[in-house]
Amino acid sequence: MIVVMSEGASREQVEAVMRKIEEFGLKTHPIYGVRKTVIGVIGDDKTKIVETMAGYPGVEQIIPILKPYKFAARETHPQDTVIEVAGVRIGGDRVVVMAGPCAVESREQILNTARLVKLAGGSVLRGGAFKPRTSPYSFQGLGEEGLRYLAEAREETGLPVVTELTDPRLIDVFCQYTDIIQVGARNMQNFVLLTEIGRSGHPVLLKRGPSSKIEDLLLAAEYIIKEGNRNIILCERGISTFETYTRNTLDLSAVAALKKLTHLPVVVDPSHSVGIASLVPAMSLAAVAAGADGLLIEIHPNPNAALCDGPQSLDFETFSNLMGKLRKVATAIGRTL
Ligand code: PEP
Ligand code: MN
Repeated sequence: MIVVMSEGASREQVEAVMRKIEEFGLKTHPIYGVRKTVIGVIGDDKTKIVETMAGYPGVEQIIPILKPYKFAARETHPQDTVIEVAGVRIGGDRVVVMAGPCAVESREQILNTARLVKLAGGSVLRGGAFKPRTSPYSFQGLGEEGLRYLAEAREETGLPVVTELTDPRLIDVFCQYTDIIQVGARNMQNFVLLTEIGRSGHPVLLKRGPSSKIEDLLLAAEYIIKEGNRNIILCERGISTFETYTRNTLDLSAVAALKKLTHLPVVVDPSHSVGIASLVPAMSLAAVAAGADGLLIEIHPNPNAALCDGPQSLDFETFSNLMGKLRKVATAIGRTL
């Protein structure tokens, strides 16, 4: 159950409502937004509240939420949430393309890639500086040096940057260097990390775990949003199935389902979904047709020489051609790119 306070409700009115709810033996969880405060009510016997609280001073609406995720549910917030990152709107009419290498490998590599992303019409630069790798002997990323190169690329091109945070102790450094913090698939249920990001208020791209249900993803988002951070972009990046030809199986039905269940923007990462560069263009087009608000695509100036995920990375020419086709699909469904 969510109690939505009216726009002009005072702090005293909010507190009075919370006290009253707590008298019923229920827990309250307020989220103080810029315009409105909403109070999450946690507990079993909720009917009494509906009857008594509706006319309370400052109360605008009482919404019963049956879903286990409360603040991420569309019922709480029927309109789409649009996240604004350095002038880029994510979740609106425009489909946003985020592109870049799997890993930042050198200053030159990321600067060249950033220039190409900008030229081709991409809106956000991606690139991992701290890489979670299956093997401890694989390239682990350039660390803070990589973050500095990303910041330089942002400075030159104006493109906001998304990069993965793997360690909650580094959150302050990340908030300083990046525009969107990526939570990788392996960390989707790292609840300490999610809570810290929630507290930071920083925009976040939350990837679905390869073995996680749609509801698990939404509950992970709930960890962030319950700390007051609504700037969450969800990302479908393929799930583990019995299929082994592709790296993962792209669950496009999750895009349609998420758009129905939540107000948060949803993007698709076709690269990790399939793991094969030649399949990435078709899946990108399909994702936009299915209603994705954006794409996260791995590209590399020389995929054969990439230190990470070369086989799934597009070269610059293929990426530029794909952008032209994506524009047509976006137009066909009444969006822009
Ligand atoms: C990545 O985006 O480079 C990455 C590691 O993705 P995922 O967490 O989806 O495997
Ligand atoms: Mn990768």
